[in-house]
Amino acid sequence: MDCIIIGGGISGLLCARELAAGGFRVRVIERNTVGSEASWAGGGILSPLYPWRQPLAVQNLSLWSHEYYPKLAQSLKQSTGIDPQWNRCGLLWLDLPDLDVASAWCRRQHMCCETPDQDKVNRIQPGLRIPDEEPHLWLSGIAQIRNPRLLKALKQELESKGVDILERSPVIHWQIRNNKVVSIDLPQENLKADLFLIAAGAWSAKIGPENFWSPDIHPVKGQMLLFRARPGLLVTMVQLGEHYLIPRLDGRILAGSTVEKADFDKRPTSQAYDRLYRFAVNLLPALADFPVEAHWAGMRPEAPKGIPYIGPHPQLENLYYDCGHFRNGVVMAPAAARLLADLVLHRAPIVDPAPYLPINR
Ligand SMILES: Cc1cc2nc3c(=O)[nH]c(=O)nc-3n(C[C@H](O)[C@H](O)[C@H](O)COP(=O)(O)OP(=O)(O)OC[C@H]3O[C@@H](n4cnc5c(N)ncnc54)[C@H](O)[C@@H]3O)c2cc1C
Repeated sequence: MDCIIIGGGISGLLCARELAAGGFRVRVIERNTVGSEASWAGGGILSPLYPWRQPLAVQNLSLWSHEYYPKLAQSLKQSTGIDPQWNRCGLLWLDLPDLDVASAWCRRQHMCCETPDQDKVNRIQPGLRIPDEEPHLWLSGIAQIRNPRLLKALKQELESKGVDILERSPVIHWQIRNNKVVSIDLPQENLKADLFLIAAGAWSAKIGPENFWSPDIHPVKGQMLLFRARPGLLVTMVQLGEHYLIPRLDGRILAGSTVEKADFDKRPTSQAYDRLYRFAVNLLPALADFPVEAHWAGMRPEAPKGIPYIGPHPQLENLYYDCGHFRNGVVMAPAAARLLADLVLHRAPIVDPAPYLPINR
């Protein structure tokens, strides 16, 4: 059986991996280059920012993936030599208004959590300018992944396993017959397959077959700053209000992020730079001694309540979706891809598929 996946972000690549393992001959069609949109731009935190505030449908995919990520990272490292730097560095929330809800959630998940006072926060992460307000919460078990490396490793592994990746190839037209997709048109060629999957992130609502149902997905811009700091300056992820810092193993530190409705305008702005810079240097004053190496924006695919669409199109029997992961697409992607493959291959699904089904919400 042949499958065509439209979109070469983390969702498309992980679905390619799952479907190839399930016996499909897989082709990934990517408008630009693989892994150059939201999946590259994201921070790689392997948890929703405030997981206890998320709908159960988001929590379930995130928790499944969080468990699975070390295996995925290890297996990609072995097969490609590229280390995606899965790192259980923990996440520290400062000045948390809903500690009771958060602690109860941690207990339900059997997750180890602490409510450190100022001295303990200083021991966990020296050098922070800690807000006077308490409480704080420390989840030492939360991990991150270096998403650009993860994408590189995925691409290399897929190609070595015979998955065909066509870059600079936007899908521009669909041939439909008897409620089935027959083929898609790219600028240079027409491609047929038995199964089609749209995993085109923020573009997923725009690119499907005309005059048929399409998901309710909108782009939400997020900007990031990257400091070229030194290893050890920051050892854990830290969140305060809307913003966070993420340490990479080589000493670089990400400061994120903004949440902006800007249609598909991906240009970074000086206002966002100033806001993220002020946040980062106020929270970790030593960062003022290090240069900002990069500033970028990505387009998050927002779906209602942040719950992705995973499963078959309601009208076209051989078209599927895996899209709309909004702010949590890196963490949810492995579970979403496994669920998608379970549905395609008629296996027992890893979670109840009902909340994710592509229908009007
Ligand atoms: C600043 C920022 C920080 C983030 N931080 C985190 C985080 O810490 N943790 C987390 O879990 N998530 C995070 N996210 C969210 C996460 O990055 C996204 O949810 C996720 O990457 C979406 O993946 P995707 O594969 O669905 O979309 P994308 O990565 O956007 O991939 C979609 C692909 O489809 C392609 N495409 C579009 N149209 C066509 C077409 N016509 N033909 C062919 N191909 C097409 C695009 O070129 C693109 O490559 C963050 C996002 C941003 C922007």
